[in-house]
Amino acid sequence: MRADLDAADLENVARRTYQVRTYGCQMNVHDSERLAGLLEDAGYEPAADGDVADVVVFNTCAVRENADNRLYGNLGHLAPVKAANPGMQIAVGGCLAQKDQGQIVERAPWVDVVFGTHNIGSLPVLLERARVEQQAQVEIMEALEVFPSTLPTKRDSAYAAWVSISVGCNNTCTFCIVPSLRGRERDRRPGEILAEIEALVADGVLEITLLGQNVNAYGVEFGDQRAFGRLLRACGEIDGLERVRFTSPHPRDFTGDVIDAMAQTPNVMPQLHMPLQSGSDRVLQAMRRSYRQDRYLRIIDDVRAAMPHAAITTDIIVGFPGESEEDFEQTIDVVRRARFAGAFTFQYSPRPGTQAATMAGQVPAEVVQARYERLVEVANEIAWQGNRGFVGQQVEVLIAQGEGRKDARTDRMSGRARDNRLVHVAIDPAQPARPGDVVTAEVTYAAPHHLVADRVIAVRRTRAGDRAEQPTAARPAVSLGMPGIRAR
Ligand code: SF4
Repeated sequence: MRADLDAADLENVARRTYQVRTYGCQMNVHDSERLAGLLEDAGYEPAADGDVADVVVFNTCAVRENADNRLYGNLGHLAPVKAANPGMQIAVGGCLAQKDQGQIVERAPWVDVVFGTHNIGSLPVLLERARVEQQAQVEIMEALEVFPSTLPTKRDSAYAAWVSISVGCNNTCTFCIVPSLRGRERDRRPGEILAEIEALVADGVLEITLLGQNVNAYGVEFGDQRAFGRLLRACGEIDGLERVRFTSPHPRDFTGDVIDAMAQTPNVMPQLHMPLQSGSDRVLQAMRRSYRQDRYLRIIDDVRAAMPHAAITTDIIVGFPGESEEDFEQTIDVVRRARFAGAFTFQYSPRPGTQAATMAGQVPAEVVQARYERLVEVANEIAWQGNRGFVGQQVEVLIAQGEGRKDARTDRMSGRARDNRLVHVAIDPAQPARPGDVVTAEVTYAAPHHLVADRVIAVRRTRAGDRAEQPTAARPAVSLGMPGIRAR
């Protein structure tokens, strides 16, 4: 049943405070910005640090290990807090809510609202209905109701923004629960995406990250295999947009036209995060990842030929069921040949609801641990070698929110280079930078996972930097003059 209460009911929530606790991937971080925007649109205010919020929203992840134990543990901690604050409400959304649905209120009856991945827009109404009816509300949709990007948003950053281009995934990787929780891929129309980006840039944003579960499959829904490359080129036409990134692409769909578009569009950053998962063809097949080692390495060669300075990073799973020592050695071999600038390495552990969880040949935990440590050592050494090559070179650093906070001990600020390397830069008292400003500095030291650039050459003050000095407020949904995507 769709919830809908009238505006007068929603006005009653004025001045109640909220807190959103986010777990999991960038998709959830982006959804949480929407949840915050929705709540502020409905009259809620962010709770001050250390205060008990009137509404606590958990935006959950079902991918991380022990995600459910963690959620129920956190809900357990909140039970006495809620008992002491009778007006308090607790809501649970995200992938775990989509998976567990009504079980959540059975296991934690003090939860007021459970909502799924397809209907985050219903949260304010469900909270209000739970309050009026004094009864838990569970609303889970099986298909996308409104594309999240058409909802109000409260961005954490004045200079950077996520832009959803698709949600869901048509692949069936055997270790992944995402397709069953986020559904099949739905693509936004290019005009709608570009209108959102233009509005963001008008609001001072310098950097956008195009977001999708399988970003370069974009266009599958409206039958344009080259849509992603075209979208990158169209981003290059937007005045004032300095940096374009995307995450995450799938090697299967990585085509030459995308590499050309990256190389030929100056504001698309020389950076690629492309999950490898395993270097063994046998394991890739068991994972149902439809590329093989040679194709993956060929893409890397093509990217490097077109963009010699591109920083390439990856995700790798160690100890997938059936992974032999020889399979693992092949992963190490690919890591050496690909020379990744960074690798996010994960120890495989069975996730309920995935095919891999019940596969034969689960690898003992101590073997997984030992392989993981060997892989991390190799990956770190390669990343460090790459970083050492930057000493003495100039980098252009966009000072980051959060990361960009001044470190009192070292007197440095942090941000990202064009190729997304983390850089800590000295603060020049003569020309202080703010989050959102751009600093050009010479690298003076390299560590495996960051650079230090203590020789500041120039600071460019930006509109985003001006905005960062102002308090953030809920920003209205970008008006696109067209409806959001509706469930069929
Ligand atoms: S591509 Fe594979 S790992 Fe990524 S979301 Fe789709 S099914 Fe999951």
